[in-house]
Amino acid sequence: MKSRIHYTKPSITGLELRYAADAAANGWGEKCYDYINRFEAEFKAHLGVRFAIATSSCTGALHMGMAALGIGPGDEVIMADTNWIASASPIVHVGATPVFVDILADSWCLDPALVERAITPRTKAIIAVHLYGNLCDMDALLAIGAKHGIPVIEDAAEAVGSVYHGKRAGSMGRFGTFSFHGTKTLTTGEGGMFVTNDPELYEHVLTLSNHGRARGQTKQFWATMIGFKYKMSNIQAAIGCAQLERIDELVAAKRRVFATYQSELASLPVTLNPEAADTVNGCWMPSFVVAAGVPFDREALLAAFQAEAIDGRVFFWPLSSLPMFTPCPENRIAYDMCGRACNLPSYHDLGEADIQRVCEVVRAHVPPKPPSF
Ligand SMILES: *Cc1c(COP(=O)(O)O)cnc(C)c1O
Repeated sequence: MKSRIHYTKPSITGLELRYAADAAANGWGEKCYDYINRFEAEFKAHLGVRFAIATSSCTGALHMGMAALGIGPGDEVIMADTNWIASASPIVHVGATPVFVDILADSWCLDPALVERAITPRTKAIIAVHLYGNLCDMDALLAIGAKHGIPVIEDAAEAVGSVYHGKRAGSMGRFGTFSFHGTKTLTTGEGGMFVTNDPELYEHVLTLSNHGRARGQTKQFWATMIGFKYKMSNIQAAIGCAQLERIDELVAAKRRVFATYQSELASLPVTLNPEAADTVNGCWMPSFVVAAGVPFDREALLAAFQAEAIDGRVFFWPLSSLPMFTPCPENRIAYDMCGRACNLPSYHDLGEADIQRVCEVVRAHVPPKPPSF
């Protein structure tokens, strides 16, 4: 039987094992925050931001950040319709309403012109999600945010390693969030990070993250607000420290996998993740979109993947098409593209022969480019 080609899995070496074992054996008592402090400090330095708070998930980091911005019932938060549900849930959890706008056909991310049109007096934030490692048009979004006095939040869960005009994804908005879930480029099993350059926002989220107890509070068990419990453990942070030491290697491996797909699928009428001028795509999730009008049966492709022991995944559904939300079929690109697109397996150690195996199945399901394409 053929070995299974997984969709994603972490790259774990002796370094991660050593740090995790050290944290489990020794990271208690006065050392119980050592790896957490180190992971935050090193992540901050990597990203080029002033403040970082390690969290139990990206979802938790988004929830606390939105709560600290005072987003609540009656408020609206604009985001792209094509997205993972985790960026929308915290909006609903704080009592606000996600407003889904269409994506751009080239970046697969928020269309800034539609963002501006969707702004109302109730708009309290714009969430820029760097989908699959692709980058949002941050210049345009930040300009719109500044013009209307609305904070731009960056959900960079999928964009470790992505760089926009010299700035790392997640470092440009009012705050940024990251995920270290086991499927992501850098992992701690479960985990996330909240980052910002705003000292007041940092203090507020730090207090929220500590069940409403301000740092420096000398009175024991004294909370001054209702907070959250979205902390990362020292053992997880130990694994994170090892992963962060290897970050360049981890991103390079993802980019190698992507580049191989790109050359192997070059004969097909498909578009893979873009890399615009003056940007770097961290290539978290190599994906392809079949050109409109080309016959393509995605379900047949996914079935063929399954028969070949390959994990293929559907592109994100428009969130507005899920049963909890009101459909927005006017988001034509989001609704049209998802049926023509697929994610490809992309773990760091995926070998050339296995990439060939995946591409053979894709080539059998997408007709080659006509000569005039
Ligand atoms: C993975 C992901 C999240 C959620 O991360 P968790 O750490 O699982 O909470 C949020 N946003 C995006 C864009 C993601 O890809």
